Amino acid sequence: MKSRLLKLLSVFIAVIMFLPVQATVAAAESTPTDAPHILGDVNGDAKVNLTDAKLILKHIVKLNLLTGDMLKAADNNNDNKINLTDAKRVLKIIVHLSPDAPDPEPEPVQQKVNLLTPYSDHGLGKKDMCEVTADFAETVPSSTDNDKNDPNYSPEIKGSFDYIERKISKGGNYDQDYYVLSSGTKVATKNVKKFSGFVMPKNKVSAYDATTANSVTDLTITVDWKVPFISRVGGQNFYTGYENRPFNVSSFTGAYIDFIFYYTSSASGSFEIKNSSVIKSTQWMTNSNNGTSTLRVFFKTSGKYYGYKAYYSEYNRLVLSFNEKPTLSNAVVMLDAGHGGNDPGAIGTNGTYESSVNLKITNYVKANLQNRGVTVKMTRTDNSTKSLDERQSLTRKSGSDIFVAIHSNSSTSSSPSGTEAYYYYGFSKPLAQKVHDRLVTAWKSVYSGNSSMLNKVNPSDGGVRFKPFQVIRIEDCPAVLIECGYLSNSTECGKLCTDSVQQKLANAIADGIVDYYKAQ
Ligand SMILES: [Zn+2]
Repeated sequence: MKSRLLKLLSVFIAVIMFLPVQATVAAAESTPTDAPHILGDVNGDAKVNLTDAKLILKHIVKLNLLTGDMLKAADNNNDNKINLTDAKRVLKIIVHLSPDAPDPEPEPVQQKVNLLTPYSDHGLGKKDMCEVTADFAETVPSSTDNDKNDPNYSPEIKGSFDYIERKISKGGNYDQDYYVLSSGTKVATKNVKKFSGFVMPKNKVSAYDATTANSVTDLTITVDWKVPFISRVGGQNFYTGYENRPFNVSSFTGAYIDFIFYYTSSASGSFEIKNSSVIKSTQWMTNSNNGTSTLRVFFKTSGKYYGYKAYYSEYNRLVLSFNEKPTLSNAVVMLDAGHGGNDPGAIGTNGTYESSVNLKITNYVKANLQNRGVTVKMTRTDNSTKSLDERQSLTRKSGSDIFVAIHSNSSTSSSPSGTEAYYYYGFSKPLAQKVHDRLVTAWKSVYSGNSSMLNKVNPSDGGVRFKPFQVIRIEDCPAVLIECGYLSNSTECGKLCTDSVQQKLANAIADGIVDYYKAQ
């Protein structure tokens, strides 16, 4: 309402300014009548509308001076002056506000921040530095002598700077070349540009504003320079599970997410969270021991969190954009048919490619969801080659609520069969669980009467597991990878290659996705 009033006002001022000086005022607008004038009804037609506002504005800019009763009616606050206050009072009446309602506050005009960079001298010396050149550079803790991904770390975003301590070359425990960074993480050398940089002054962060619109809540933060930061969900317990991996969660109980800014000595300002369905409040914390400042973002309800996206705005401010609670009526789902093109994936006992089985099932999932009004996107729709980087990037740019990668499994042994669901971040587990539950039920009906296969449908550990597959290492939305069944088991391979079973599994995946939305 406020902005409508402002817009009306600015449009009318603009219109009046551009009228030729000799413009004649339409007779209907200016003809005085003998009827007593009510306040604001300048032309005395017993209506207060835009015509009256226009007459007042024309008087103000001396295009058409009012006299007599029209002048009296125009001065609708009786202060013996005809000015913008009178025009605004008429506009308020038109939009059904009281003429005495307070004026809307103008929208703040955001000024672009001039950021410091290590490409100019700050009088603090020089050091080897790097700038993130990829859209995202995954970070791995530097304290571990391997490149195992850890969900307590998140990628650095494009344009971030950090100091380089040393380089680690591929080999031994490392799959690729890394730079160990002074912040305490390491990044793959392919994602950054190394240069001799000027040491930066300590950074300061401050709250700029918080807004909720278009299914996201944006926290906008002013920074001095693009420092590295990582995010970490708190209030979550892990246990060591499948393959001895330490990041399995019984259930997602996260209560808050921390954004830890390195090289940052002060944090100030507060966010006024108004209408978010996910975020309750925020808190700054500074740690002078390790030179970090942390923004802690508390969830409204523990365990109800749906991912975020971080980027620098056109005003050079950092935006942390949190997904609001997803709804089925506005659902956008990204489906990823595993492998394809040059990469066939596993080969079934009957020679069928996994890539082909995955695409068939994925297409059935898509059809099912579309019939329910869900917007569906796909990383591939034919037998084309798509790298894991491309699949991640497509998902990040798609604005999807959830990501589901669909695969079929293989083992060196012909015995294993059954279905599994994998997550990376704990907040993806609820989605993995819902889809897995439905797939287990579907397989039980497929194997009805076959007790040996029935026994192996669901692994003894429950089949919902942490595993750091690359495509699901995204913090943007809940992301899961489904292994539908084993192509290396001849009985199961036969089923997975049967159209009716593919449809059944696809319907189960779609039902699981819908179950997830309904549970939020
Ligand atoms: Zn696969």
